[in-house]
Amino acid sequence: MDAPRPRILYIAGAGRSGSTLLAMLLGGLPGCTAVGELRHIWERGVLANRLCGCGRPFRDCPFWSEVGQAAFGGWDAVDAERQAARLMTVGRQRHFPLVAAGAGSARFRAELRAYAELQARVYRAVSAVSVDAAIVDSSKSPVYALTLLAAGLDVEVLHLVRDSRAVAYSWTRSRTMQDTAAVEYMPTFGPAWSSLTWISNNLAVDAVRGRGLRPRVMRYERLVAAPARELSRALGDALPEAARAAIAAGGDAELSPGVQHTVAGNPVRMRTGPLTLRVDDAWRAAMPAFDRRVVTVLTFPLLARYGYAAR
Ligand SMILES: [Zn+2]
Repeated sequence: MDAPRPRILYIAGAGRSGSTLLAMLLGGLPGCTAVGELRHIWERGVLANRLCGCGRPFRDCPFWSEVGQAAFGGWDAVDAERQAARLMTVGRQRHFPLVAAGAGSARFRAELRAYAELQARVYRAVSAVSVDAAIVDSSKSPVYALTLLAAGLDVEVLHLVRDSRAVAYSWTRSRTMQDTAAVEYMPTFGPAWSSLTWISNNLAVDAVRGRGLRPRVMRYERLVAAPARELSRALGDALPEAARAAIAAGGDAELSPGVQHTVAGNPVRMRTGPLTLRVDDAWRAAMPAFDRRVVTVLTFPLLARYGYAAR
């Protein structure tokens, strides 16, 4: 298929940092199509048939049907289970050094090549179907960003950081997924686990610098306080012309997501009405003092580097 080389605005960072919200804001701009966490398209979309952000099951969504046709002549033409299983090997964060260096066993490299090649076909098809200049992918995983790069795609990494205390507090709260018929809860984790995950994910995003990527750092708190200003400041020329013009013309009033065909992500993605943006800092009042201390001590060096130490 002859499609233009799509530009991928790739949102990386730790879980619960606001990546779905950022993707929705960007996806609401002209010239940008948000696809959710495309890393999970095979197991959650093609196989489990979970709800697309448009509210239809994945297989009934006209956008994804068209993408499947354009990429493969239909989703059933691909061994989806095999591709989903590949993600569980080549997509693991502990394989970051292998993927970064193009190293590993011959079998590992062959699996990585096969995985990347199929993923690249999906992105090229999204680009052809949406006819937008940029694809917004909120997959978060740094190792997956390297996989897309290895597949020859044009990847621009947006590193979204958020105060580790807010992230840890969010991980302790239970909430339901909105994209399955059965009631399903998002997993919860304690402060030590979320601190270590926050550190390792953020450090891994930093490490993609060595592979020729230059992550643009955005702070969640600034984003929700003044979205238009933060998007312009952090992304600037990485945004398509039409998106820049819309931000300049309309400011924050133009940042409404509308219907988006997203395959996975935080439950907020199922919302289609206007989003009320406000800093979610419930942790300041509600987080147990002990948890707060644990997270602050464990994550301190990075917290300071991102400018949160004095807060
Ligand atoms: Zn859809």
